[in-house]
Amino acid sequence: MKTQASSATLADRVGEDTSRIRAELETLVRIPSISHPGHDPSQLGRSAEATAKILRDAGCETKIVEIEGVPAVIGHVAAPAGAPTVLLYAHHDVQPTGGRDLWHSDPFDPIEKNGRLYGRGTSDDKCGIVMHAGALRAYDSRPPIGVTVFVEGEEEWGSPNLGKFLNEYGSELRADAVILADSGNWRTGQPGLTISLRGIVACDIEVRTLDHAVHSGEFGGPVPDALTVLAKTLATLHDDRGNVAVAGIARGKADPLDLEEAELRKQVGLRPGTKLIGEGGITDRMWMKPSVSILGIDAPRLTESTNQLVPYRTRMPLSKHSKTIFGATCRGARRCRSRRAGRGSHTSSRAREPRTTRCAAR
Ligand SMILES: [Zn+2]
Repeated sequence: MKTQASSATLADRVGEDTSRIRAELETLVRIPSISHPGHDPSQLGRSAEATAKILRDAGCETKIVEIEGVPAVIGHVAAPAGAPTVLLYAHHDVQPTGGRDLWHSDPFDPIEKNGRLYGRGTSDDKCGIVMHAGALRAYDSRPPIGVTVFVEGEEEWGSPNLGKFLNEYGSELRADAVILADSGNWRTGQPGLTISLRGIVACDIEVRTLDHAVHSGEFGGPVPDALTVLAKTLATLHDDRGNVAVAGIARGKADPLDLEEAELRKQVGLRPGTKLIGEGGITDRMWMKPSVSILGIDAPRLTESTNQLVPYRTRMPLSKHSKTIFGATCRGARRCRSRRAGRGSHTSSRAREPRTTRCAAR
């Protein structure tokens, strides 16, 4: 039995396997496995089947298990006697794509451009699945440790049933360490190991100012519209320098490793006139300080708006990332932080909303 392989040998093996790894990734990307409600759930079943086949072909004993109709895949390679077991995590669901006009190419038809593969899920997180399979094949499916692979099917929807899943199947996921293949690259061509992640809390905020719409020409002035109230409320979430102004969220400092602003601007495609927000090192702001992001607003469209004061249902999802955790068991720790961050957000929005409005956060 092979128990050791030099890193050079492993790198060679992975290199030789690259075309297969890529082909398997493309197979997965072609399946529109969007976990958000309102999308075809049968696609999640297809992606679970495809994931199970890839892991089976890589030497795992696999099974598909469902909680609340959402399929996840569990794979096992037994540990040699006395060896520890590592849990490898990934997820096979993806985010909705938004409008097709936002894409340069079909999101579910992977395409290579300038040395990169584009398509929904090529990175997050179908890449994680084929990476795990490729790692197992590099060891001829007989790694020197036990391996359990857990590929979730609802991560992009916030894993609402993960607790139930762990109650039912947690014993099958027991491991000495957890490796999540679901985080960012430090730099193209330069491997990185993520050892901490910020948690997340999300909520929808609904603002209501009136029971019904009224004419803006007649009543505008003393009577507030919901959009202005929402904008003023959102403006309180950051201070004038762009730092998160919500109290009570943990903050820390990242390792000395830092990004140059020019590199970050290039990575994210920041427009020339747009300034970065917040203070401190860039990696401090990305990894160890909280961020607050507004992900969308439901409000009257320009083409449908008339001379009316918007009375209600100006809604927006708010996503806040707080400084989180250290170590391998990210998910449990992440949840603790999320709850703490959530209280901060709610208090802030409530405390600062104008008295005449109703502002509800869910
Ligand atoms: Zn992900």
